[in-house]
Amino acid sequence: MRTTTVVIGAGHSGLAMSRCLSDRSIEHVVLERHEVANSWRTERWDSLRLLTPNWQCRLPGYSYDGSDPDGFMTMPEVVEFITDYATLIDAPVKTGTPVSSVRRSNGDYRVTTNQGEWQCETVVVTTGAFNVPHVPPFSDAVPSSVTTLNPLEYRTPEQLGEGGVLVVGASATGVQIACEIQHSGRQVTLAVGEHVRGPRMYRGRDIYWWMEAAGVLDERYDEVDDIVRARRVPSMQLAGSPERATFDLNALTSIGVKLVGRLAGIRDGRAQFSGSLRNKCELADLKLGRLLDTIDEWASANGLDDSVPPPHRFPPTEVDASPPLGLDLASGEIETIIWATGFRPDYSWLDVEVLDAKGMIRHDGGVVESPGMFVVGTPFLRRRKSSFIDGARVDAQELVVELTSYLDARASSASD
Ligand SMILES: Cc1cc2nc3c(=O)[nH]c(=O)nc-3n(C[C@H](O)[C@H](O)[C@H](O)COP(=O)(O)OP(=O)(O)OC[C@H]3O[C@@H](n4cnc5c(N)ncnc54)[C@H](O)[C@@H]3O)c2cc1C
Repeated sequence: MRTTTVVIGAGHSGLAMSRCLSDRSIEHVVLERHEVANSWRTERWDSLRLLTPNWQCRLPGYSYDGSDPDGFMTMPEVVEFITDYATLIDAPVKTGTPVSSVRRSNGDYRVTTNQGEWQCETVVVTTGAFNVPHVPPFSDAVPSSVTTLNPLEYRTPEQLGEGGVLVVGASATGVQIACEIQHSGRQVTLAVGEHVRGPRMYRGRDIYWWMEAAGVLDERYDEVDDIVRARRVPSMQLAGSPERATFDLNALTSIGVKLVGRLAGIRDGRAQFSGSLRNKCELADLKLGRLLDTIDEWASANGLDDSVPPPHRFPPTEVDASPPLGLDLASGEIETIIWATGFRPDYSWLDVEVLDAKGMIRHDGGVVESPGMFVVGTPFLRRRKSSFIDGARVDAQELVVELTSYLDARASSASD
């Protein structure tokens, strides 16, 4: 089978790209291993809601138009939002079609699936950035009496034993899971490394409203000092709840969660925590202050000071004077460990030499080092919001221009 472009993955990124290709009459197919919006259907815990507000759910030619623009979608609502989009744009999706290999072949690409092989001039990788939980190598040393789960395995507190829970990692995933488990009556200890603190609301508006308005979410990959580092920054400690609650560490300690430092290793059944908790919290407080400074400057410069509440700062993160540096995992105090230690993409099917030592695709703003290959949907691909639904919208719109130029250049060199 032959087509011009194969898009791999029918999440919102693949569909956004499909819409952009259709707008330019570029023949294409979207290959999806399971169903449209598979990640949202199968890889998220039960209570999860988007942490981006509904009004920010925008894809090319499509946006949220329900009655609760300031609310946060549940997972079934996200699945509906994305599958409705696939229908609306009449995306040429082939579901149940896992791609097992992509390789170069005489200047084209050969894409192998369980339904046969596709030959194409361009490939767009939209298989997601969060396919595989990243668990530290020392997880093997956890005593067998302790149950371990990653965020793809975790669904609800009811699946856990009644004992204590150690949640490792304090980014969006870790703080949300820690909060709901603590509310379920189980004692949670949260191991906190580098993190990004964020209030849900500031000066009467959602933090993402401010970050969008002040241009923070649109900061571009070629404008930041260190894009490699920027792409690794953990997600902000946020959650979308009907109460618009803040999920920072002070909120967690106020409900009884115990904070410890980053889990640095496990020796002889004993968890070893770094002594850097206070430093990490001070740094996060400092960075939050800088973000709020940026927002306040923008608000003043744009004449908002009279129409929103005045600037203020949040209390510093409260940390015990000497948090424990160790915990005996065999003592029975901890019954479950949840690894909220990040995710990695899965490119095991990609047989083109474009991965770096960390297994990430080498690209320049989504233009992959292999001619005619593009990627959409990874953190800070072209701008800070790239891994969000709204980021895929603009990134796909820009990358389709690059893809079209590539096809035009190819066509004109073939006709020379
Ligand atoms: C816990 C969590 C919470 C999040 N919350 C938000 C939020 O509030 N707001 C927001 O905007 N973003 C949020 N995101 C980020 C956003 O969902 C991700 O960036 C999203 O995964 C990227 O969308 P995507 O379309 O690129 O990838 P995905 O939605 O992961 O879609 C990739 C698709 O590719 C398919 N696929 C993978 N491999 C293959 C293969 N070999 N062959 C065929 N198909 C394949 C998968 O089945 C999947 O359907 C969240 C992410 C996580 C993990």
